[in-house]
Parts: sequence; C-alpha cells; structure tokens
Amino acid sequence: MSLIRFKKISLYGKIYSTTSQLYVYDMIRKKQCTIGGTVSYSGIGLHTGNKTTITFKPAPPDTGVRFVRVDLPNSPAILADIDHVVDISRGTSIGQNGFKIHTVEHVLAAIAGLGIDNLYAELDGNEPPAADGSSRPFLEALKSTKIVKQEPDKKYFVVDSPISFSDNDKELFIIPYNGFKVSYTIDYPHPLVGTSFLSLEITPESFSDQISAARTFAFIDEVELLKEQGLIKGGSLETAIVIGDDAILNEEPLRFENEFVRHKILDLVGDLFLVGQPIVGHVYASKSGHGTHVELARLLRKLAKKRDQKKQASEKIMNTERIQSILPHRYPFLLIDRVLEIETNKRIVAIKNVTINEPFFLGHFPDKPIMPGVLQLEAMAQAGGLLLLNQVENPEKKLVYFTGIDRVKFRKPVVPGDQIRLVLETIRARSKFSKMIGRGYVDEKIVVEAELSAALVDR
Ligand SMILES: [Zn+2]
Repeated sequence: MSLIRFKKISLYGKIYSTTSQLYVYDMIRKKQCTIGGTVSYSGIGLHTGNKTTITFKPAPPDTGVRFVRVDLPNSPAILADIDHVVDISRGTSIGQNGFKIHTVEHVLAAIAGLGIDNLYAELDGNEPPAADGSSRPFLEALKSTKIVKQEPDKKYFVVDSPISFSDNDKELFIIPYNGFKVSYTIDYPHPLVGTSFLSLEITPESFSDQISAARTFAFIDEVELLKEQGLIKGGSLETAIVIGDDAILNEEPLRFENEFVRHKILDLVGDLFLVGQPIVGHVYASKSGHGTHVELARLLRKLAKKRDQKKQASEKIMNTERIQSILPHRYPFLLIDRVLEIETNKRIVAIKNVTINEPFFLGHFPDKPIMPGVLQLEAMAQAGGLLLLNQVENPEKKLVYFTGIDRVKFRKPVVPGDQIRLVLETIRARSKFSKMIGRGYVDEKIVVEAELSAALVDR
C-alpha cells in the first residue's frame, strides 16, 4: 500500500469552492434514520460455509451501525468504521479486541443505499450470509421494517474541493456535487467482462432499482485456487457470478448487461459508509477495488476529523450579551437572539424568535400580525454584520454598511411564534467588502432568501 499517493487538486479548487454549502443545506437538514422493527435473514457464510443468521434491530440516534457477535460471551459489538478495518483481501473485514467480522460490504451497501444511519446487526458467527452475492436480500429485509426518521440531523461530509487518489493504474477522485453520485469504470482483460462505465446518482430509489441486485463476480481460476486453499468454503454459483474462459458458468443469466460495473458501485457505496458520514460529492472511480475504496474512506475520515476540529475551534456560540458587544443595534431594533454557529469568514447560523410582543405587530397588522419582509431582511443583514465583525480584532470600532441586496424572495409569511433560523454564507470576500447568500428558515421551510453585499467601515 506504500505506492498510494494522495494529492489535492488545486487547479479547480477555486471554481468549486464557490459551490457553497448553502446549496446542499436542504440535503444536510435531512434527519437520521433507523429501521422500524427487527428482521432476520439466514444463509451460508462465504468463508466458513456454515449457516449464519443476521438480525437487524433499530438503534438510537448517533449509534451508527454496530455488528454484534451474539455467539461470543458478553455479545461484543463493533462499530462499522474505517478505523476498525483489518483486512481487505477478499471483501472488507472489520475487527476489534481480538474478534472479527468478514465481508461486511454488501450488508453496509444495503444500509447506506437506503440512507439508514443507525442499527444493530446481530450475527451468530464471524460473517453475514453471502446471500446471492448482492445486497438485495439485505435491502429487502431492511425495507420490510419500514425505515423511520429520528430527531437529530444527519451529519454529512460535504466535499468542498477536489480530492484525488491513485495507486498505480487505479484511480479515484471526488469533486463537489450537490448530492451523491458515482461514476465508475472497469477494465478487465477478459472478453466477457471487458470495459464498462456507469454514472449514477445514488438515492434509495436508484440504489434499490439499479444497484442492489448486482452480484459479485469471480474468475474460475481464482475460485479454484481459493477453494484448494480451503478458503471460500461457502462460495458457489449461488453466491457469485463465476466467469469461465469463454462462458459464464451460472445458470441464472446476468441481471443487467453491465452487472459487473454495477456491483463495483455497490462495493464502493458499502465501503464509503465506513467514513461514518454520508458523502455529498461526486466520486469517479477507475479500476478500483476494496483496497482503494478503503484508502479513500480513510482519507475522507482524516479530512472530516480535521474539519470538525477546525469547526469546534472557530465555533463560538453567542448569546445576546456577546451579540450586543459586537453589534450596535439595541431593542427594538436588535433582531438576532442567538448565534448557533459561526465559522470566521465563512458561515453563520443565527436565530430570531418572533413573539407577539414585537413592536411592529402593533401596526403590521393588528388583526393579522405578519412580520414585515424588510425586517426579515434586516435580521438577515444583522446576522451578516455579525459574521463580518466577528473576524476583526476590535468590532466595537467598526460598522457594517450594506451596499446592496439582490435576488430577494419572500417565500412564506412569518407570524408570531415562529423561530427564524438564518443561515448566511460568504460567497466572495475582500478585506473590506463581502458578498453573502442568506436564507431564513422556519420549521425547515425557506421563508426568505437574498444576496447581500456589505462593507466594513470605521465608526
Ligand atoms: Zn462485492
């Protein structure tokens, strides 16, 4: 693995860095999911050839996916996580404290494909059933419980600049993209497989219909060798497509004309689940496999960790007192109650609680109180002011003047009892000028959006 090189492409960094996180905000606001009940599936394990049962059970938010070895004393559990990957030679195996679970990727692919975040997967052996070599049996079992939403938001890993990765002729790269998309190329020196390419947006629907049924495949020479070595005792024409010199040996024909590349996408989706955060980005893979998938997951994990640390360091939750020390506004014209997140120069999330006691409701309108749109904009501008002033050393000596407001849209009326969540992101910044995109949300629905231009001046 020492040949692997990491590099970050800076060439397109500038272009893509304008792909604001705001555009994926709606996606980011999706809720975590678990399954609606307990369901089991049994079959033969690939390595041992023994009958084995996997039982999926719901889990609380932020649990992740935990495999539980119920055949061992005290039923130890292991989190499906990149840090626990111990082997990638034939599938992806995870291990911790001396116990292992082999070939988890097809189970993980079904879980990831359906957008599930949290569940327990109990096993009575060291591997899940090989099933038919695809994810479909797991996917159907999971779907039969009905997926349920949980309260906390999902935590995505948003790719904000291109990341590339190569190992000899195997290549992987990810670019920013508003969603999760995979484009995969395979190229095998065998006439029955050859070269094939598929590009697909991965959603629960597309994964179920286009990917989940694609079976794993192996070449007859490999299979014979592994069998001679006493490995893959459970391997058969029921658990994989086996490719002979000039024919496919299975009775069941190919499920898709390009089933091979579809299975590679399935493997990638399963392996990337190990990052621990669903990816928002477009992955391009060429001639890859578990080895490179897992290395990519490790790289993404490293970046995610760095990003979390940075965010924690720069995050200052501001209360009214701190807000008043930065902003010159006072009652009744201070329209920000709290700042939930602030990333210097980049992003702010602030709250305005709208109560019936707001002075403007006296006249706007007495019989049907509605918050004036221009005051929603003012609240947004004050949040933008906080973002700008937070980056200077002595904010009490500065003022923010707004120099332009564009593309204003009022989407829904704001009424007493609403809480406006204002999210602003810098899209252009020079030392004294800044341009931001802002959106106000009430109950996750956009009520107001605008582009703001502002200048920082001395008081
Ligand atoms: Zn596979």
